[in-house]
Amino acid sequence: MPNKSLQKVAVDATFDLRWLDNFSDKFEVLEFSHSDAARMPKVAQPLRAIIGHSASAPDFDLYPSLEIFSNFGVGYESVDSAYAAKRGIVVTNTPGVLTEETADTALGLLLNTLRELPRAEAYLRAGRWKKEGDYPLTQGTLRGRKAGIFGLGRIGKAIARRLSAFGVPVSYCGRTRQAELELPYFERLVDLASSVDILIASAPGGASTRHAVNAEVLAALGPNGVLINIGRGSVVDEAALISALSRGAIMAAGLDVYENEPQVGPKLLSLANTCLLPHVGSASVATRRSMAELAALNVVSWIEDGKALTPVAETAHLAEKSWDSGALVGKD
Ligand code: NDP
Repeated sequence: MPNKSLQKVAVDATFDLRWLDNFSDKFEVLEFSHSDAARMPKVAQPLRAIIGHSASAPDFDLYPSLEIFSNFGVGYESVDSAYAAKRGIVVTNTPGVLTEETADTALGLLLNTLRELPRAEAYLRAGRWKKEGDYPLTQGTLRGRKAGIFGLGRIGKAIARRLSAFGVPVSYCGRTRQAELELPYFERLVDLASSVDILIASAPGGASTRHAVNAEVLAALGPNGVLINIGRGSVVDEAALISALSRGAIMAAGLDVYENEPQVGPKLLSLANTCLLPHVGSASVATRRSMAELAALNVVSWIEDGKALTPVAETAHLAEKSWDSGALVGKD
């Protein structure tokens, strides 16, 4: 039985440990919140693993013995994985286990945006149906539309499959054409936007996609256009979006993610042609449990077998520990 005091694992306090059967039996678990991360070194050395949501280079530098950062989520733009790679720390994420849930949410968001279903329900609940008659017909419909997906990865493809079942043709834009797919490909996002009337962003955050959906792209989407963002808030220039929605330069937007979460500005809130969700793409008990299990399994597998299960691309070369390195402190 390994000595627990040498298997210290820090876990972000927002992460629900109740989902992790036996995890606390194996490791000494230290809960932290971002505000006390800087105080952790006093109690946490030698810290081998962190399960969390974000980590900068200075965060990593607080923990000289850190071997693995297990990110709770598939998007890891808030983890400086390039720096982690330099330090020899493997970073993992939770791909796959949240794909279908997030795609389901995207379709719900799209239908709610086009057919105003949350507003129609609010109308009924307020007693207005009885008093004022039928809810007004919606301008929006999914019928006869074409969709473009920005970031056709796991989630984007799951959205495309659903759209196809709804009879909506799909094309896509990404850094690379996926030759095995028959879907029309656009190298430039502005060209994709001008050829469709639904634009769905399911690309990751980070510098390379920041404000990719800008005023020019929204203008290309046009006055009948609908934007859905299920990826990351930073992908959309929110000021340009608010301007386009206010002027009728696009018809409507459905958002699950925002530039400055959990702040959603009053201008966006005041616009009637928006459907706004509080970042709930993967937020069911079952899916969050699967994500927690995968995040924990990465740590267990690393500490017990020297293998990270789902390393991110930047640290894929570190996924198997060299057992000769002597770095497996405390394995007894
Ligand atoms: P994948 O890595 O499978 O897919 C990402 C896609 O984005 C790939 O097709 C990639 O294609 C494309 N992409 C990456 N960088 C760029 C770029 N600079 N420009 C254009 N396209 C790019 O990830 P997932 O599908 O699993 O997840 C996608 C994102 O969804 C996550 O990163 C996360 O931010 C977000 N997400 C949101 C959730 C929510 O609750 N709203 C829940 C889960 C995830 P290529 O490399 O060819 O460019």
